[in-house]
This record gives sequence, structure tokens and C-alpha cells, in this order.
Amino acid sequence: MDLFRSRRVKKRGILLDEPVDGNDHCNGCDAACCRGFPSVELTHQEYAALERLGAARLQFLLDGHHYLVIENGCEFLIESRCSIYDHRPSICRRFTCREV
Ligand code: SF4
Repeated sequence: MDLFRSRRVKKRGILLDEPVDGNDHCNGCDAACCRGFPSVELTHQEYAALERLGAARLQFLLDGHHYLVIENGCEFLIESRCSIYDHRPSICRRFTCREV
């Protein structure tokens, strides 16, 4: 039965030292990274920029950390693609994954 033959692909996240744009590795993916984490940490500048872009799920904690909550899927994800790609936060730019 096909249900039991399906193979769940495990992926390992990697945070690169430098941002990467137009990563071909992402083309066949359904944006698992934009759905698979509770939040993305932001700088204050990124927080302000996303606020200007209309982000509704921003968090500014009393300890000074800023976040974009992406639990159950980032609000900027449209048809499995980032709708603010040119303005996405640094962590999103540096993140990639590999199958393990
Ligand atoms: S900002 Fe873009 S790249 Fe970052 S989690 Fe949201 S949809 Fe994904």
C-alpha cells in the first residue's frame, strides 16, 4: 500500500556565515523551513522594516529580543514562496538545509 511506502525525508538545517540569494537548492521545496520553526529572530532594524511591511506576528520581548513568529507558517509565505524575498531577515537569508 502506497501509504506505507512513502518515505519521510529528514532534513538538517544549516545557518551559513553569509547570506545566499537565489539558492537553487530551494526550488523543489515546499518551504519547510518557513513552516517548521516557531519564530525567526530579528534585529531591531529588521523588526522595524517588517513592521513597515505590515507584519502582524511580531514579538518584542522585555529581554530585548525581537522575533517574527512563523509557527504554522510564516505570514509572508504565499504559494510556498517568500513574498518579501528581497527584504527577508538575515536568518532567512543565511538558512539552508540538506537531506540526511
Ligand atoms: S520572511 Fe520569508 S523566508 Fe523568512 S520565514 Fe517568512 S516566508 Fe520564509
